Amino acid sequence: MKSLMQKGIVVKSTGSWYIVRMDNGEIVECRIRGRFRIEGIRTTNPVAVGDCVVVEMGTEGGVITEIEPRKNYIIRKSTNLSKESHILAANVDQALLVVTVNHPVTSTVFIDRFLASAEAYNIPTLIVFNKVDLYDEEEQAMLGGLMAIYRKIGYTCLAVSAVRDEGVDEVRKILNGKVTVLSGLSGVGKSTLINRVEPGLDLKTAMISDAHDSGKHTTTFAEMFPLTGGGSIIDTPGVRSFGVVDMKKEEISHFFPEIFACAGECRFYNCTHTHEPGCAVLEAVEAGEVSESRYASYLSMLEESGKYR
Ligand code: GDP
Ligand code: ZN
Repeated sequence: MKSLMQKGIVVKSTGSWYIVRMDNGEIVECRIRGRFRIEGIRTTNPVAVGDCVVVEMGTEGGVITEIEPRKNYIIRKSTNLSKESHILAANVDQALLVVTVNHPVTSTVFIDRFLASAEAYNIPTLIVFNKVDLYDEEEQAMLGGLMAIYRKIGYTCLAVSAVRDEGVDEVRKILNGKVTVLSGLSGVGKSTLINRVEPGLDLKTAMISDAHDSGKHTTTFAEMFPLTGGGSIIDTPGVRSFGVVDMKKEEISHFFPEIFACAGECRFYNCTHTHEPGCAVLEAVEAGEVSESRYASYLSMLEESGKYR
């Protein structure tokens, strides 16, 4: 006899109902019963894409009765002033950040803010530099410089042309078997790249806007797409630029691995690495061991932090 309780993964949420992919592959529309709370945070949505849930199967869809503990989750404040947060995705293995040196320009500040946020969430990030077919000589040189900076810190970097199908196989390999959140500015080629990785999966067409929740908020809900090679992609405009967790000033340096690595050598234990004598970070920047663009991003985050509190 078929059990009434089954496990599955939430692949889409609109806030009032959820699409769950059951372990047997079946897709079930679900509602929730009861109140789900996470210690310490107030959220607008109790169940998020990526959540492993227990579903009670009924005649008209299912009811989510239990959420398994999350390995991690990405949240975003509902508004800058609000104490409520919105969980964008749960149980993420890695983030794929798609960037372009040009067409459009992705600033290093944007990249570094994203990377620091992902560090804070403990989500490994891979950087794909797309549209290499469009780069002139100067942009090619910038690409080389940026890849060297990020590889030295430990980030995996790939140079790709989605339209020419260059480097796409490597991206596919990296996504294989993992739950990956897709990020990057609008226009950098995320949809094009994913459609190359997984032909037939048209992200834009697949992201049907929900008639029940028309308006801006719909776009913050994520959707998970399975990959034939195993694993899945989580996509939503909200996740695409999930950047900037609310960090304490003194924490920011922890999320720049190469800055954190030398901060232990600073003369003062509470060094902010901005002006202090005997600052090992400033010395490393001077010596070219910490890149100037990364340091500038660190400073910009320091300056930003606390503005919205
Ligand atoms: P998204 O907003 O990040 O999903 O970006 P899209 O996938 O919609 O791509 C934006 C535009 O860039 C489209 O016109 C694509 O055809 C183009 N594009 C995407 N990847 C490449 C690439 O590798 N090279 C070139 N030349 N154009 C690309
Ligand atoms: Zn210092």
